[in-house]
Amino acid sequence: MSETPASARSGAPATRAAQVRPATEGWTQKKDAEGRPLLQFASPKRGKPPVHLADLTPPERIEKVKELGLPGFRAKQLATHYFTHYTSDPAHMTDLPAGQRDELVAGMLPPLLTEVRRLETDRGDTIKFLWRLHDGALVESVLMRYPGRITLCVSSQAGCGMNCPFCATGQAGLTRNMSTAEIVEQIVRANRLITEGGLGGKKADDHSMERVSNIVFMGMGEPLANYKRVMDAVRVMVAPQPEGLGMSARGITVSTVGLVPAINKLADEDIPVTFALSLHAPDDQLRDELIPVNSRWKVDEALDAARRYFEKTGRRVSIEYALIKDMNDHPWRADLLAEKLNARGRGWVHVNPIPLNPTPGSIWTASDKDVQDEFVRRLNDAGIPTTLRDTRGKEIDGACGQLVATTEDEAAAAAMA
Ligand code: SAH
Repeated sequence: MSETPASARSGAPATRAAQVRPATEGWTQKKDAEGRPLLQFASPKRGKPPVHLADLTPPERIEKVKELGLPGFRAKQLATHYFTHYTSDPAHMTDLPAGQRDELVAGMLPPLLTEVRRLETDRGDTIKFLWRLHDGALVESVLMRYPGRITLCVSSQAGCGMNCPFCATGQAGLTRNMSTAEIVEQIVRANRLITEGGLGGKKADDHSMERVSNIVFMGMGEPLANYKRVMDAVRVMVAPQPEGLGMSARGITVSTVGLVPAINKLADEDIPVTFALSLHAPDDQLRDELIPVNSRWKVDEALDAARRYFEKTGRRVSIEYALIKDMNDHPWRADLLAEKLNARGRGWVHVNPIPLNPTPGSIWTASDKDVQDEFVRRLNDAGIPTTLRDTRGKEIDGACGQLVATTEDEAAAAAMA
């Protein structure tokens, strides 16, 4: 397919729109030994986090409890405390014999996340947590109350190896993969806070029935680069209580830069999570620079995989598109995107543009409001449902692409250690 816009082919427009590119703005792509854009798929080797109940299947939990020399049925009691009361505190577990509690908890529910800092905005409706992992690695999650739902944006890796120039996490590189239980623990901790009434925005005082209803894998990391642990975490999220969190798969969104083989695998899992592709450009020329993984899997391959996801699961997929001024926000790109999506059928996809969030030292800015509106209008006119995503947490650097451990965070974590 030609990448040249129809307007350019016909000689119009009279004034050429500006075209900013990462390279022209002084960003240089880091390269690997073979001269390809640097991508870190393998997790650097670090000490493994302690094994936790949430890392294990129910039969494995029973085995582990027996290995501790205790009766297997204690596993289910522990799971109930963890997944329905959101507690790892032996003092709360009065149904367990006092003499075994500490041992059971130490062996099955070891501490995984130490809270370093908590920042609030939107009158307490949005909370960003900074967590320290057992080895000092730092990750964040963002909790948001919306009318009728509570969403948690979780991290799947400490850092990220995908190197996208406009994303603060991507620019910091990959520290390591998170374990299944480290991913799940973010939700349990958020639920504990909600139950205690720590998330604002609700009038009544009784928060006991409230919990996280939606998960987005849009915190730190590329979830499909940590595939097995992320999928095991999803299985724990959807497993009925008390063996898991009893959440609905539809409320879980897995967002990826476009690792095509992993998207295909995800489609075959038979877990109907919501799938989101971070496209950000409909043409390879720009996407090669904007999303370095495009050097492996091109726009058309990523879109084909997204379409296949829809066919296998019947779930409408989302296309994410951060609108960056003069970079990817041209009307012809909206048209080309619509063309490529419509070429793959109708009713299978919607587009979620989001104005770029500023990142430290970033040279790019969000598109102007009228340009955003025009971009959205063109897609909608072409029959692609498109809604501008509202962005939460900018004031606390908790919005998409802003999650990164700052020197301030490191200092706060070091002071606690
Ligand atoms: N690695 C995954 C998930 C994490 S990022 C992915 O890329 O999809 C979640 C979303 O935030 C992605 O769509 C990502 O492209 C977007 N994003 C990253 N930096 C951003 C920024 N500065 N402004 C707005 N969105 C951004």
